[in-house]
Amino acid sequence: MVVTLNGNIDEKSFQKIIKWIESHNVKIKTVESDRHTVMVLTGDTALIDETVLSSFDGVLNAFHLSENCTATSREYSPCDTEIELSPFGEKVTVGKGLCIIAGPCSVESEEQISEIAKKVKAAGASVLRGGAFKPRTSPYSFQGLREEGIKYLERARAEAKIPVVSEIMDIRHIELFENIDILQVGARNMQNYELLKELGKIRKPILLKRAPSASIDEFLMSAEYIMCGGNENVILCERGICSFEKETRNTLDLAAVALLKMRTHLPVIVDPSHATGIAGIVEPMSLAAVAAGADGVMIEVHSRPQDALCDGKQSITPHTLEKIVKKASNVKKASECQ
Ligand code: PEP
Ligand code: MN
Repeated sequence: MVVTLNGNIDEKSFQKIIKWIESHNVKIKTVESDRHTVMVLTGDTALIDETVLSSFDGVLNAFHLSENCTATSREYSPCDTEIELSPFGEKVTVGKGLCIIAGPCSVESEEQISEIAKKVKAAGASVLRGGAFKPRTSPYSFQGLREEGIKYLERARAEAKIPVVSEIMDIRHIELFENIDILQVGARNMQNYELLKELGKIRKPILLKRAPSASIDEFLMSAEYIMCGGNENVILCERGICSFEKETRNTLDLAAVALLKMRTHLPVIVDPSHATGIAGIVEPMSLAAVAAGADGVMIEVHSRPQDALCDGKQSITPHTLEKIVKKASNVKKASECQ
């Protein structure tokens, strides 16, 4: 719902309107222009009567948008959301240009993560990935180095001067993630609504991965859970969905990328590693993702993929990453040509 207020509305009338709107349990986003103040209301706005709201002093007009006007929608925010990070002075933007996130599936040792941090940065990545808490199908598989892994990741981050992303599986771990720049919600937790609500209360960027069986609507609704709590820094990540095809680990849904870019202002990235499970096709799928409109890719990279403790088969080397970064930048440029 959109409410336009007279630019010179007095404070008392303004507060009266806010109080009335807030009693309907909806969220208000205010945009100031030279002459008017525009408020976009999201949430369950159905019970707000346009005529009553329009009768308040200072209200120029109030009207309902389509049912699809959610916080993730382009109706709510027509311009692309850009998420900026600059923990080391150098600005990294997700949602403008191409953002390359790269690193191992999991943090395996201090040496391993420190070495790969420098290598991915040299290859052109602007964010380092590394899982410390690993969601594994089998409880007997390597579960990640947990707290110790976060410490090694922090050291690698500081040494290589590169922001990091790591998966948070439980809100009780939030304090451990203080120096982690982007919190990842893994595919398995995409519909862990209590976790999403808690992440809505903080302001760190959240990289939300699509669950393998989630529809585009369900994916966007999960982002909505984070945003309606007040955290609008959400990055969507397509990482492959379930299908009958068993040759690849998952089926990369590139149509979803193009469609998401039409429907939402949030940055959309692609993880071709988990989408395919095959190191040899990470390069073409990365390029295809960029051609489909992705704002970036998140790729698993290991110095010695054959020795990786987790997901070695889908991990590429820093040398291949360098090639992908160069080609992906060209694809991005070509796709932006008028
Ligand atoms: C990961 O990126 O580390 C991961 C576990 O991926 P997903 O949640 O997409 O399976
Ligand atoms: Mn992995």
